[in-house]
Amino acid sequence: MTTTWTHPDVFTRGIAEGWAEAETDPTCINWAERQAAAAIWFDVIDGRPVKPGESTGIEHGRGENGHWGEKQNGDAVVLVCFNGTRWVLLIERDDDKGWGFPGGGLDEGEAPLAGVIRELAEESGLVIPGAAWRMLEARIVPDTRSTDESWMVSWPAVTNLGEVDALPAVQGASDARRAEWVRADTYDVLAANLKTTYHGQVFTAHQPLLAELFDTGQIAEAIAGALYDRDLEKARDLFDRAVEGSRAALGALAKQLAANVEIPKGTIVVGFGIDVWGNPHRDGYAWRCGDCRWTGSNYLTAPGAQGDAEEHAIMHQEQGEPVPAVQDYATA
Ligand SMILES: [Zn+2]
Repeated sequence: MTTTWTHPDVFTRGIAEGWAEAETDPTCINWAERQAAAAIWFDVIDGRPVKPGESTGIEHGRGENGHWGEKQNGDAVVLVCFNGTRWVLLIERDDDKGWGFPGGGLDEGEAPLAGVIRELAEESGLVIPGAAWRMLEARIVPDTRSTDESWMVSWPAVTNLGEVDALPAVQGASDARRAEWVRADTYDVLAANLKTTYHGQVFTAHQPLLAELFDTGQIAEAIAGALYDRDLEKARDLFDRAVEGSRAALGALAKQLAANVEIPKGTIVVGFGIDVWGNPHRDGYAWRCGDCRWTGSNYLTAPGAQGDAEEHAIMHQEQGEPVPAVQDYATA
């Protein structure tokens, strides 16, 4: 069975207001041009665009969107540290779909970061000249307005304004009913705050990005995956970003990591940076024992950690227990 859906407003209001394409037959569109400009490559079959990845369950039509194929958005993730807590700027959408990042469609030919900065100013009034932005990879967002022939791609950009004496003034405007700073040490804290303070909920399309940034369980899994691949640089990077400006996130993540990573029995693992496995001291050499709960961290040199780990192995021996083998993490 083939499903088709386009909201009636697309043909009337959408075209009149300029947010919908007048073309009703996607096979008349020059797809080669749009494929070349796409943020994420998509196939065209029999003249019709096909959303990459998971199906929305609606094969044809534009849903509540005005465009055919891919539409690119820029979304602003602005963080500040205030009063010992990390905060993120969110807006309440005026379409009753919940709270998400300030952002919106890129203008014709507009670079993603330029769009992010413009949308941020339009929707929240926040202008932060000189802010250092980090672009994340473009991703397809799970927007309930989309179909397999009309979907949204987001370019998120993250900036952290660091410690502030007061939360910067913001004011909802344009497509935003309200703009507010929301406590965001972890995803659960953020969702709970939206609910209790604003009787609001997370905008479905932005849920995965919020989880990627703030869900310590999900981040711990990503770090464990990087460690499994022996990609210490990536593990440390994920860790540093997740705890940036938030002591509470650091504590939550350290607990998740300690629960997630198992050192093999009969082994003491030694290496640089491995204390991200369960210890906030992450800038030196460390060891962790698989036969007990002991760890050692903050060694300045590899031999320092190695020597202490060997002493720990001897302690097991002196207690008449099997002697764990000390292994270098990088070569184990
Ligand atoms: Zn031990």
